[in-house]
Amino acid sequence: TDAKPKKPDWLRIKLTTGDNYREIKDMMRSKTLHTVCEEARCPNIYECWANRTATFMILGDICTRACRFCAVKTGLPTELDLQEPERVAEAAVQMNLRHCVVTSVARDDLKDGGASIFAATIKAIRAKLPLCSVEVLIPDFMGNWDALKVVMDAKPDILNHNVETVERLSDRVRAKAKYRRTMELLRRAKEMAPDIPTKSSIMLGLGETLEEIHRTMDDLREVDCNILTLGQYLQPSKSHIKIARYVHPDEFAQLKKDGLTKGFSHVESAPLVRSSYHAHEQVQSAAAN
Ligand code: SF4
Ligand code: SF4
Repeated sequence: TDAKPKKPDWLRIKLTTGDNYREIKDMMRSKTLHTVCEEARCPNIYECWANRTATFMILGDICTRACRFCAVKTGLPTELDLQEPERVAEAAVQMNLRHCVVTSVARDDLKDGGASIFAATIKAIRAKLPLCSVEVLIPDFMGNWDALKVVMDAKPDILNHNVETVERLSDRVRAKAKYRRTMELLRRAKEMAPDIPTKSSIMLGLGETLEEIHRTMDDLREVDCNILTLGQYLQPSKSHIKIARYVHPDEFAQLKKDGLTKGFSHVESAPLVRSSYHAHEQVQSAAAN
């Protein structure tokens, strides 16, 4: 049948906003910057911004791909904004961020996929806010490993690239991205810069089996991925891929234990966990490992 699984209690959350939140929101508008926190209507926004963590989306807000789980607009991207790295750094200063996540849409129209803008953004934040750790959540650059090298050479504190789902569902869930290419990207990133922790994320509730989740975790460990995040997939709109099931918080807790046993240095695993949730703690635990 077409019956939708009922939304469980653990996903009902109250959005609280305060002055700090509103102030930051206004600042983002004045700098014409985009945050994933807002665009994806992330349920953790208040907590994260209060904890001085935010995720910026660079390279515009129009993606050349159309993944079936993602709420970002698809289309012909806007042109390249070379001032964006500076504006992100200024915003990071104004928010006095401790941890800044920088991600982007997939810009398959650009030769380097936007890698040079990622590198410039890392450098701009470093210059203005030296104590802020910088995590990049990058697209796969269509397997352009020279582009990956440009990002690694800018020395992010964490290199994040999401596998999103298990191998069997990958082609249905993601557009153009390939499961094996994701693993290769993580492997090469580690090879290029063994000291930089790598990180990936799996959404649960898309129809994957427990065994498949374990295999994906093993594949990630195989390429020495260090940090793992697991969260519940939530359907952004009717036209997006349906939720197959709601994964119980106890299962998330068990998977966290399993992940640590498999050798991840840090695992965030709970229904509302998103890729950048508690990211600041991940830098610290990765550094301690
Ligand atoms: Fe922003 Fe990530 Fe926190 Fe969500 S989890 S509010 S996207 S920093
Ligand atoms: Fe969304 Fe990224 Fe897929 Fe683009 S490539 S549709 S931004 S998940």
